[in-house]
Amino acid sequence: MPARRSLGVGGNAFGLLRIMQELQKELDHARDAGLYREMKVISFAPEKDIVIGGKKYLNFSSNNYLGLSTHPDVKKAVKAAVDKYGAGGTSSRLVAGGLEIHEELETKIAAFKHCEAALVFPSGFQANAGIISALVKEGDCLIMDRLNHASLWDGAKLSGARIFVYPHKDTAALESILKRAKQYRRKLIVTDTVFSMDGDFAPLKDIVSLAKKYGAWTFFDEAHATGVFGQNGSGLCEHFGVEKDADVIMGTLSKALGSQGAFVCGKKTLIDYLVNFCRSFIYTTSLSPISCAAALAAIKVVESEPERREGLLELSRGFREKLAKKGFDTAGSQSQIIPMITGSVERAKKLSDKFFSEGIFAPAIRPPTVPENECRIRFSLTSEHTEQDIDRVLEVL
Ligand code: PMP
Repeated sequence: MPARRSLGVGGNAFGLLRIMQELQKELDHARDAGLYREMKVISFAPEKDIVIGGKKYLNFSSNNYLGLSTHPDVKKAVKAAVDKYGAGGTSSRLVAGGLEIHEELETKIAAFKHCEAALVFPSGFQANAGIISALVKEGDCLIMDRLNHASLWDGAKLSGARIFVYPHKDTAALESILKRAKQYRRKLIVTDTVFSMDGDFAPLKDIVSLAKKYGAWTFFDEAHATGVFGQNGSGLCEHFGVEKDADVIMGTLSKALGSQGAFVCGKKTLIDYLVNFCRSFIYTTSLSPISCAAALAAIKVVESEPERREGLLELSRGFREKLAKKGFDTAGSQSQIIPMITGSVERAKKLSDKFFSEGIFAPAIRPPTVPENECRIRFSLTSEHTEQDIDRVLEVL
């Protein structure tokens, strides 16, 4: 005991040292396996050309799919919002009241998504974790696509509901689970609509009709579809005409809308329930007015400039075709997210490093983000990219 005291940091010093050693061991392990992660620091605005360490790179890593983060209308709206409201949400909406701009944004989103009502959250991760765990509990079940986003899995684990998993997009397997899940009080089918790492589409029409047949609900995550798909850019639910049939539609403001935060929409009762029972909405500071203003302005651009998404999808189609012609596996991508499967961690890292040395930022995606041996380079295209940019990638390949 006296020896511990002499360290001057209390009796916990040895325990803390041991924990730090354990953490370091895990970090060393990740480094040895090629799975250690480091953040690059970008010193210039997140446009197509970014600056890292004083050098310019052509960026294929951003989810700013329509370039709206730096759109003049978006910047103008942000400046006006700061003048009117200041920078922060300042408190939980249930404690201190929300801002008019929260309601304005929610009304706009509900109309954009053709739903009765909407609710905004400070982040997509928080929305998914909170909504799922509010809607299902012990005695209920969740039926999840194997490749769903991490935030959906964390919501599922938090919920205490029984979790069933079906192979990626396998509706026959989904049906056989539904047949076996009769005893559960609520059955919630959860899927990304456009998958974040594969860029392919969930079979939404089939999922909706299976849900109806077996009395299940549907939860669709439109993070990567909002702003990009559908006649009005509302998302993949609009593209497949299932907006009216989906029970819970979630999406982010942080990708094609170039802002930050997320939303959920559906029936008024659903939104009312979440305001009252969704812990990640109740116990958090509201979405900043800056993000609200940016998202509002961005949705208006999505509605008035369809050529942005049309050009993006055309460019993406061309890139996928060129990669396929060169014999690369793009994992069934149907969108602006275009993976190039490399298999091993080493190959993905080597290729990403090679691109980087050639002035192209195209990140290597490794486990646990994707399954073992399905490592990849994930290209995300934006409406700012050109054919010449695509050709630069192909030259390096
Ligand atoms: N859902 C999906 C499908 C995502 O890809 C992401 C983020 N990449 C999220 C939810 C979380 O959104 P946010 O970044 O706003 O937390």
